[in-house]
Amino acid sequence: MTASQATRARSLEGRPVADQIKAEVAAEVRELNARHGFTPCLAAILVGDNDASAVYVRNKIRTCAEVGLRSEQLNLPAETTTEELLERLHGLNANDDIDGILVQLPLPKQIDEVAVIEAVAPEKDVDGFHPNNVGLLALGRPRFVPCTPAGIIELLDRNHIEIAGAGACIIGRSQIVGKPLASLLLQRHATVTICHSQTRDLPSVARQADILIAAIGRPALIGRDYIKPGAAVIDVGVNKISDASKAHDLFGDEAGKRIDAINQKGYTLIGDVHPAEADSVAGSRTPVPGGVGLLTVAMLMRNTVQAAKRRRGL
Ligand code: NAP
Repeated sequence: MTASQATRARSLEGRPVADQIKAEVAAEVRELNARHGFTPCLAAILVGDNDASAVYVRNKIRTCAEVGLRSEQLNLPAETTTEELLERLHGLNANDDIDGILVQLPLPKQIDEVAVIEAVAPEKDVDGFHPNNVGLLALGRPRFVPCTPAGIIELLDRNHIEIAGAGACIIGRSQIVGKPLASLLLQRHATVTICHSQTRDLPSVARQADILIAAIGRPALIGRDYIKPGAAVIDVGVNKISDASKAHDLFGDEAGKRIDAINQKGYTLIGDVHPAEADSVAGSRTPVPGGVGLLTVAMLMRNTVQAAKRRRGL
């Protein structure tokens, strides 16, 4: 074993944790069916023809089938108005057969996203974006927790990374990742620091953290200077890079595979963390792809089952 291999960070793979959660959900779905005679149903709304959104929705629908959930997909044209979308949402809210509703974001720019998020019935809001659910989470009484932050907690727990007492630094303060994750980590007794684009001397703040979470959207921004030796590094970012000449510096041993991907597809995915630099300092790191993203879909399945049970008082 070479020196660099000896010190390389442990890879926190999303697949085994996501598979475990999906197996738990599938068992619960079977039990609901056997004991109560129903199968929960998720409705997913896709507006327009954004390729990435279409892939995400397809993935969610496929995963429903995998765990035994029913699903409905509504595809609406790119020129859909706010009023038209709200009307569809009212229909789904009133439909007793639907347990969970998700509206894939981002929406086309003519649509009022806030009005749409607020129109989803809070008891069917499996993304956890409705103000009622955001408020309950902030109060420490979570009902539906946004899927990516919930998945990060599962990933830490199931890899036995201690949260209580740890210093956690989250870079990024979005409504879907940074802020809800801060609430969850605080409830689990971490000492939480939230950073953003105005944070002064970000590397020195980040370097204090035992658990460092990057949810920024800037390829490989987080280099070795940001990471405390031995820290757990959770990379939420999903970015595309297409410059093969940077692959050796960024990906180290994995460069060959990544260059092949760039040659075949025109790009490879990278997170907000510089993989090769992080691996030489961190204790563990989530890969991109294959890390946090896989957990997000698994948690959506779990939220859907939870919604179905809650609506029926189970
Ligand atoms: P977002 O809404 O775009 O917010 C980005 C955050 O990063 C903001 O708080 C911004 O600060 C901060 N930021 C931007 N540049 C910065 C810099 N140079 N230094 C420090 N902070 C900086 O982000 P998001 O929706 O949370 O998404 C973040 C990334 O995660 C994206 O790559 C997205 O694709 C990915 N993502 C992945 C999943 C998954 O399942 N894997 C789920 C959701 C998101 P300000 O607030 O000051 O502007």
